[in-house]
Amino acid sequence: MSALPPAAIRCHYANNPDLRPDCRITASARIGPIPLCPSCLQRRSTLGKGQPVRPLPAGQPAVGFDPLAWLTQAHTELRTAEHRLRKECAELAMERDVLKRSVALWVREAMGR
Ligand SMILES: [Zn+2]
Repeated sequence: MSALPPAAIRCHYANNPDLRPDCRITASARIGPIPLCPSCLQRRSTLGKGQPVRPLPAGQPAVGFDPLAWLTQAHTELRTAEHRLRKECAELAMERDVLKRSVALWVREAMGR
């Protein structure tokens, strides 16, 4: 039984097709601790351009975009955003009620009642 070649390392942006639609999934080099594919390596920011590039050994192609992990993360982010939005709506409704009462008092006072 022969040993399998080592599994390739996934690009840092492999699960982020919105940000890096050209990502090739399999990393070919590391910038510091961050593995990048050739496409993402080309697109790195000027900040990363001063850092040395360490090539990675070729291995089996990394498993592609993981839609389940991406969906799970998106679902979690959605729940967090909904929670924050509900909280903000409740706070705004309270402020609106306080302002309504203040205006009613102010109008009553202005009319001398
Ligand atoms: Zn990439």
